[in-house]
Amino acid sequence: MFRQAKWEEPLVFELSKPGRIGFTLPSPIEDIDIQIPQHLKRKNLELPELSEPEVVRHYTRLSQMNYGVDNGMYPLGSCTMKYNPKINEELANHPEVAFIHPYQDERTVQGALQIMWELEQWLKEIVGMDRFTLQPAAGANGEFTGVMIIRAYHLDRGETQRNEIIVPDSAHGTNPASAAMAGFKVVEIPSNEQGMVDIAALENAVSEKTAGIMLTNPNTLGIFEEDILEIAKIVHDAGGLLYYDGANLNGILGKARPGDMGFDVVHINLHKTFSTPHGGGGPGSGPVGVKKHLIDYLPVPLVEFDGKRYYLNYDLPKSIGKVKEFYGNFAVLVRALTYLKMMGRDGLREVGEVAVLNANYLAQKLKGTKGYELPHKELRKHEVVFSAEPMKRDTGVKTLDVAKRLLDFGLHAPTIYFPLIVHEALMIEPTETVTKEDLDAYVEALKQISKEAYTNPELVKSAPHNTTVRRLDDVLAAKRPIITWRMYKELKEKEEIDY
Ligand SMILES: *Cc1c(COP(=O)(O)O)cnc(C)c1O
Repeated sequence: MFRQAKWEEPLVFELSKPGRIGFTLPSPIEDIDIQIPQHLKRKNLELPELSEPEVVRHYTRLSQMNYGVDNGMYPLGSCTMKYNPKINEELANHPEVAFIHPYQDERTVQGALQIMWELEQWLKEIVGMDRFTLQPAAGANGEFTGVMIIRAYHLDRGETQRNEIIVPDSAHGTNPASAAMAGFKVVEIPSNEQGMVDIAALENAVSEKTAGIMLTNPNTLGIFEEDILEIAKIVHDAGGLLYYDGANLNGILGKARPGDMGFDVVHINLHKTFSTPHGGGGPGSGPVGVKKHLIDYLPVPLVEFDGKRYYLNYDLPKSIGKVKEFYGNFAVLVRALTYLKMMGRDGLREVGEVAVLNANYLAQKLKGTKGYELPHKELRKHEVVFSAEPMKRDTGVKTLDVAKRLLDFGLHAPTIYFPLIVHEALMIEPTETVTKEDLDAYVEALKQISKEAYTNPELVKSAPHNTTVRRLDDVLAAKRPIITWRMYKELKEKEEIDY
């Protein structure tokens, strides 16, 4: 039996009233028979025979061995690991969303199209772009989409010599990777003393070969590129376009818009800024927004509304084509719109303000602690990058050891060794969803670890001591992950694992 959703009436989402989520549910679900061919039916089914308590206890134990945003602060810099409101899950798991099929007739998915169309209107307003595709599967897929659009734009204008994309040395690795995948030569430019784009280096780098520049603002140091208008002018005057990596949008949410800074293309990581679960590989969502002059190149289809009906528009002759099957990760889109409508305009502005306040509070409290130093400018946006270089030099304790030791305090480690321009980097992004108590506890733990490093470095170097598993062999874990109970049982019997 398979449950098929019926979509007689659209879901009603009222855009005008932030704080209220109005789902009007369509007619009930009907059960229909699906005939499975004999040859596809499994002959012997080997399932573990376990009682309910055994299963419940197994999964409860597993969940207790894990750590997630529902457990506590998860300050992975650049990842924006904020709390995921449970209302998001409730709506995304609703049968009308969970059982929708991409081949359903347009008339039967009016509510779904409305959700996508309304989400697009919110995103356009938030970043100052003219149209969006919701198709890309994540930020990196959005970047690829964006640079393919930039490529299509130049080729369409006959400017075939524009084969270079400029990327600063503080960029996320996906930026140069996406540009290279789209066939561009990557031109790296250095950051200046203050941790911002070096204007002179940029002026040197631009030429008639420049297709564009990829930037994130605030950048990966959590620093706002103050000269962004000048940067935009330099690139535009050279005939290039500006791509905005939206991973750090949380830092300027409700305050500044990439569209007003001169950017032509933007991706947004819905799973970061707009509170949908991520980590462990997805699913994410990386909508790409463009200014008017690039709409023609967007992937097909676009969601349109004629005042009465929503429909999918495939009539874009200059489109770069599809970048992902169907229409994007729909359940993530539902979560993001739920969050947006719940927060409303004022709520979103507050998100940006509190995220910035929290990062700076943490930075100021930790600053001056022996072993850690704060390179570049002091004032940060949503995240702060410390260097534990002095600690390594004085005691031999590395950033990796500090990160492992944090686990013993029941805390999640920050992002480490990124951005590459900071040695022994600790990249901390608390987000707006942590309390002052959480921030204080985190700083206290980092201060305690500093004391330990200078008095008993072995304790830190051999951490973690209190976790379910100790220091993992990352390479082996990636090469031979234990993903079934049978693999676990076999390894356990052979005593290859001790947990
Ligand atoms: C996360 C991130 C990306 C890539 O986004 P994914 O959604 O993980 O593919 C790109 N740039 C920056 C700065 C990021 O933090």
